[in-house]
Amino acid sequence: MTSVNTDTSAQASAESTPALEVHGVRKTFEAEIAPVRALRGVDLTVARGTFLALMGPSGCGKSTLLNLIAGLENADEGTIMVAGEPLTEGSEDDHALIRRRHIGIVFQFFNLLEGMTVLENVALPAIIAGRNRKSAETRSRDLLDLLGIGDKASVMPGVLSGGQRQRLAIARALANEPTLLLADEPTGALDSAGGQEVIELLNRLHAAGQTIILVTHDANVAAAADTVLMMHDGRILDHVNPGAGSNGPATTIGTL
Ligand code: ADP
Ligand code: MG
Repeated sequence: MTSVNTDTSAQASAESTPALEVHGVRKTFEAEIAPVRALRGVDLTVARGTFLALMGPSGCGKSTLLNLIAGLENADEGTIMVAGEPLTEGSEDDHALIRRRHIGIVFQFFNLLEGMTVLENVALPAIIAGRNRKSAETRSRDLLDLLGIGDKASVMPGVLSGGQRQRLAIARALANEPTLLLADEPTGALDSAGGQEVIELLNRLHAAGQTIILVTHDANVAAAADTVLMMHDGRILDHVNPGAGSNGPATTIGTL
């Protein structure tokens, strides 16, 4: 009985933990002429289920922030917690584990494995995460069906349209049921029809409860999100935290 109660409260607290907490994050890149201060103190809390769009001029630090959240690069200062787990403490192995469990990421240019079938592209991350091939492929088929490209499972990615390629990249990012789906300009390389396919898909995922952080410079794409934040010169101009529970930080919405 005790263990049931403990499990229930542990689960409840896991669900009320924000998907993402970023505090005081700074990142400087060494460059030939002068260091580039890409992030100059970023604070951001994202409640579970939020669809957040991050906008701002080229070079303002959007991709750097996304890469730090994804654990692809390390912050110089500050803390990043994904689903309550710290990405800024512990070993590289710990980070890899957190990344695998909690993060799915898609990029502008898809980063697909061109020599593998569509199904293999989606199944691979789950197999790497330790799932057996059969169950990984079963889940991958379900995902491809859900994302509307189930009939493409056995073809190579090269024959897909741009919109289908990005849907495949999103299916792959979702293979391990990540807490956070990160998307860096996912419509940037698509024509308007392909972009629309991707936006509709992100909307459906959001409606199903997926937490999404989308970087875009396209206001039409950002309009799909429930929260839009602007970045400028390595800082977030406003801090919006809708839907946070009573134990989350106060919601502050500034002028956008
Ligand atoms: P955005 O995605 O908003 O266009 P980025 O995060 O890619 O901006 O870049 C922010 C700043 O950091 C830019 O000035 C960029 O040139 C610089 N930058 C990004 N990555 C590196 C790197 N690996 N080495 C040096 N400078 C970098
Ligand atoms: Mg970028």
